Amino acid sequence: MQEVEFLVVGCGPAGGTAAREAARSGVETLVLERDSVVGAKRVCAAGLRPGFCERFGVPRSIVHCDPPIIALHAPSGRRFEFELGPGHTTTREELDGTIAALARSEGAEIATGALFRSYRRDGSWTIVEFADARSGERRSIRARSVLLAQGSSARVDDGSPLAYAGWSAGLITCLQYRIYLQRPAQTIAYQTFEMHYYLGSGGRNVIAWMFPKRDHLAIGLGIMGKVSGPQLREELDRFVTTVELRLFPGIERTIRREGNLLYGGAPRPGLVDGEVALAGTAAGLVDATTGEGIYEAAMSGRLAAEAVAGQRRGLHRSAAAVYQRSLKRTFYGRLRHRHQLMTFLERRPARFDVLFERLAGSPRFASLLQRERSDYTLSEWGYLYAQAALFSMRALAA
Ligand SMILES: Cc1cc2nc3c(=O)[nH]c(=O)nc-3n(C[C@H](O)[C@H](O)[C@H](O)COP(=O)(O)OP(=O)(O)OC[C@H]3O[C@@H](n4cnc5c(N)ncnc54)[C@H](O)[C@@H]3O)c2cc1C
Repeated sequence: MQEVEFLVVGCGPAGGTAAREAARSGVETLVLERDSVVGAKRVCAAGLRPGFCERFGVPRSIVHCDPPIIALHAPSGRRFEFELGPGHTTTREELDGTIAALARSEGAEIATGALFRSYRRDGSWTIVEFADARSGERRSIRARSVLLAQGSSARVDDGSPLAYAGWSAGLITCLQYRIYLQRPAQTIAYQTFEMHYYLGSGGRNVIAWMFPKRDHLAIGLGIMGKVSGPQLREELDRFVTTVELRLFPGIERTIRREGNLLYGGAPRPGLVDGEVALAGTAAGLVDATTGEGIYEAAMSGRLAAEAVAGQRRGLHRSAAAVYQRSLKRTFYGRLRHRHQLMTFLERRPARFDVLFERLAGSPRFASLLQRERSDYTLSEWGYLYAQAALFSMRALAA
């Protein structure tokens, strides 16, 4: 049976970054990716936070637009704007494809058309089973460390320590249109990330977006739970009409429709089973208030690569245990809080106005919320608590 030191399942930002950085540290690395072309089928608005390319050593050539403004649309219909970084937009075929190419250049092997099926323990090793789409064969590989990074489609058996009862309840059904216009839209469209929060037909909470790209606008929405295709299309068509009136009235267009699941719940409580660990969205690392998960995925891949490289150098016995500790320290405080915040906001739509007003009126508050808590100074913590207290008082009265 083939043996490998580090086996990664899925070549999204989590798996690709893990593979690239582990291979760079000299770890023998193999990625199993079910698609035949990395990134080609990913459905995503592909907005990146400021500094993403520099932080992860990804070339700026993948960037389409650098919107400096976030516009938040509350359920009341009010629009609030504030400045950001600037952030960036790209497409997932470019982002994931580029990270995969960089991983290969560091020496990682990426097997495409390889569908992960299951894993089982074999002493201190793990045996991973997968289906080879080219030959149609079922194959097995023995690995010292395994990172599962299959995104929102990650299924975990009920009996596994990785299982999480709250997983299905956190899934959001998404539909997105790539709108290719014959003439450019209004200039402001290319300078803004638009996020919209409102109650859709049937009283369900909708989160919708318009992210500009070089050659199209990505306009989409997500609704918590299972939603039928026709219902989702109707909701999105209604939303697109409102965006069109402001940004591209009467311009001829062609549309590419794409759908996917997004996870919007709390992070998964258990992340490791022996030397098998979860990363990225499979670990539940998505900001429930915005749907941002690319940065979290790439960071989790980096932390996994560091843990595996550390084990190789004899710094610790279990890469998975070290990884779990550092991932929880880095992300769990913020992501759990964001999930609670979203639940709190959705209970009374007027609360969105209260929060957005504070963000638009206080650039320091807005910029702090975009950073990791581990970077805060003592005075920043003090400021944040004061802002949070003000928000809570006003939101409870709203
Ligand atoms: C509509 C939508 C819009 C979004 N917009 C944004 C945004 O603008 N900005 C942002 O930061 N985040 C956004 N997100 C979230 C973001 O897409 C995810 O958080 C991010 O992709 C997570 O990366 P990942 O590597 O964990 O998983 P994924 O990117 O989902 O990658 C998983 C990989 O695993 C592969 N795979 C799956 N199952 C198997 C299997 N059984 N065997 C082998 N391979 C497998 C898949 O083919 C894929 O390549 C959006 C999500 C959705 C659905």
